[in-house]
Amino acid sequence: MDPEVPVLSVTDLGIIRDILIEGDAVKVVITPTYTGCPAMDMISANIRMELLAHGIKNIEIRQMLAPAWTTDWMTEAGKQKLKEYGIAPPNPKQQICRDELFAADEAVACPLCNSFHTHRISEFGSTACKALYQCDDCKEPFDYFKCH
Ligand SMILES: [Zn+2]
Repeated sequence: MDPEVPVLSVTDLGIIRDILIEGDAVKVVITPTYTGCPAMDMISANIRMELLAHGIKNIEIRQMLAPAWTTDWMTEAGKQKLKEYGIAPPNPKQQICRDELFAADEAVACPLCNSFHTHRISEFGSTACKALYQCDDCKEPFDYFKCH
């Protein structure tokens, strides 16, 4: 599971690029959600512990940085889990997200009442990969999982 969003698994996030099995050796290739994400070391350790718990001892976990992870790799089930957890899921990149950082505000739906009458309070929420928004209708503040 993602240590920052405990309802999301590594497969929900779409960060598992490859799994190679040769004899008793298992190699897992992961792409960090963003370079320098502090959660990645913990994710690697968790994958290792999970494999060890299944009796696999010959483990190699490798990071692949290119192509860079994008929120488009997150599964639909993962986006739904984020929303149920109270975090607005990333919008599909081709629709609203822009390439420039700190571009115009995105139309982000409130995960609680689905209103699009929301505004950004801060570029950074509880972690660097989220922004803090507030709903103008139900007044609830919420985290938005930023597109990138
Ligand atoms: Zn709302």
